[in-house]
Amino acid sequence: MVKNTNDFNEIDILKKSLEQLESPWEFQGNEKSVKVETSIIEDVNYNFLGVINDFYFIESLDKLEEFEKQDSDIIITLERISNHHNFLLFLKYFYQTELKNYLDYLININPKTKEISLNFYAFKNVSEVWNFLLSKSIIDKYPLKLLVLIELYKNLLNSNEDKESTDIVFSDEYTVSNINNNLSQFESQYDLKKYFKIIASLTFIIDSITTSLNILIKNVQTSLLLFYKNKSNSKHAYSIFRELSSIESTVSTFEDKIRTEELCTFYKKKVNCLASASYNNEKFIAINGLDTDSINTDNKYEKIIRIIQELAKPAEFKSIQITDEVKYYLDPTIEIEYTRNNITYKMFKNYKKNYNNQANVNHKKISDENKDNIFNDKNRMFTCCERKLIDNLIEESTENEYPNIELIITMEPCPLCNRTIEFLKRENKLELKIRHSEKNSNLPIDIIKEYDDFAIEILNSEQQKKKSD
Ligand SMILES: [Zn+2]
Repeated sequence: MVKNTNDFNEIDILKKSLEQLESPWEFQGNEKSVKVETSIIEDVNYNFLGVINDFYFIESLDKLEEFEKQDSDIIITLERISNHHNFLLFLKYFYQTELKNYLDYLININPKTKEISLNFYAFKNVSEVWNFLLSKSIIDKYPLKLLVLIELYKNLLNSNEDKESTDIVFSDEYTVSNINNNLSQFESQYDLKKYFKIIASLTFIIDSITTSLNILIKNVQTSLLLFYKNKSNSKHAYSIFRELSSIESTVSTFEDKIRTEELCTFYKKKVNCLASASYNNEKFIAINGLDTDSINTDNKYEKIIRIIQELAKPAEFKSIQITDEVKYYLDPTIEIEYTRNNITYKMFKNYKKNYNNQANVNHKKISDENKDNIFNDKNRMFTCCERKLIDNLIEESTENEYPNIELIITMEPCPLCNRTIEFLKRENKLELKIRHSEKNSNLPIDIIKEYDDFAIEILNSEQQKKKSD
């Protein structure tokens, strides 16, 4: 495979770095580390990194003693570490996806290209650096972007290494002047061969940045899994997070500039994704959305569950998917003419099936595609992880008395789930112990109103059906 001319050697070096970027990510589990293919990580439909981040939060919360689970200081600390973990995953994800683009461009560059131009102008501040990297620019900018990316990460990670004086060393001014100094060493134009030589000579830095990020991520994951042991030893356990927080505050200033869909999904998707429940000495786990029919066509859901199960070992989690019995409760203040105050997922699906031939069609017949759109928008009425768990466990319980269930969720239950929880409490059916972070989801009132109207529409059609039977 090794070719003889110098040109090809350099391209081979770049190809090797690119190959490295395609290698699986490793996640630290309770017993061992687990490899995850980049194809799963990069699939925006699954928000894998969000799910996995939630898993670490839930796992570390679950391990705490009963009284600790109710201590808001402990929960907040845990939440902070979990946010750092998410942030580090974001840093690695961003670094790798950008690098792939740039290296791929260079490896496949038109061989007739004679010159590469950099045209570097000094940055005024760190935001400008991020802005430049995040901007959707023409590929001509890739050669410069590649150098900027390497410089930025080198600085972020170096400042992290200097443990004694993080606050002094790490500042926007310091970082940006460092980046400017190093980049101004480059000429504004290179012939292609020369540019390749420069980049090839930087590949050891490119690779070592990935290694450093991996070590940081592994450390945070270990700290989350061992949090139940180390929480009292705050100085030791939290030192790395303090250092990272300075990077995070810098990056949070460019948050609104994250435009691309993949990055947005990953960085901003702050809905709770994961819930676990204990009941009768068994553990159950459910993921938001995910297992709905429309996207569960390629077994990715099973793959993600298997990864979580591997990480959790020796603990065993049974995965719970959406069932026909998951319920959507109406707002209790709504006056309805029926004894029923909820609809099941089964009713929802039936309504969809018969949408065009209801007895009381008060809507126009619509195409299958439009029908899918209407119902996909409403899936959220049923896909909350905690509701899947609650309705499933109640359904599974053969006893008349409902068991005590402990729910661990990444966020406060949403208003829709709260209706179920309140209803069960009122009926004295179930005393739920719920543990969650301080985060809450923000489900707009007008969307909830839309869901309620839709549920009433379904109740009406059921009533019509009964009459005509
Ligand atoms: Zn919910």
